[in-house]
Amino acid sequence: MGFFKKFSNLVSSPDKQREDFGYWVTVRCDRCGEIIRARIDLHNDLSINYGDKGRVTYFSRKVLTGEKRCFQRIEIEMTFNKKRSLVNRQISGGQFVDKK
Ligand SMILES: [Zn+2]
Repeated sequence: MGFFKKFSNLVSSPDKQREDFGYWVTVRCDRCGEIIRARIDLHNDLSINYGDKGRVTYFSRKVLTGEKRCFQRIEIEMTFNKKRSLVNRQISGGQFVDKK
């Protein structure tokens, strides 16, 4: 009984659970102005880098394209520290849009 209850809880909220490990980024295409949102999966989309003195950072690179008729490729590169907080980011082909 206990097992089935737990199992159904997991099934009913998979998105919510995954959301906790996602970092959302919003960009604006330089060419057409479209706003594109992308999710970085902090578990699957990051590659680990071992720096000096055992310093660990995570790196993610993504290429985004809009849904309109625009073939602009927007490349984003993001670096996270070992707590998976964003420490550096770069973009080409678009601009980061920060919500305030
Ligand atoms: Zn565009």
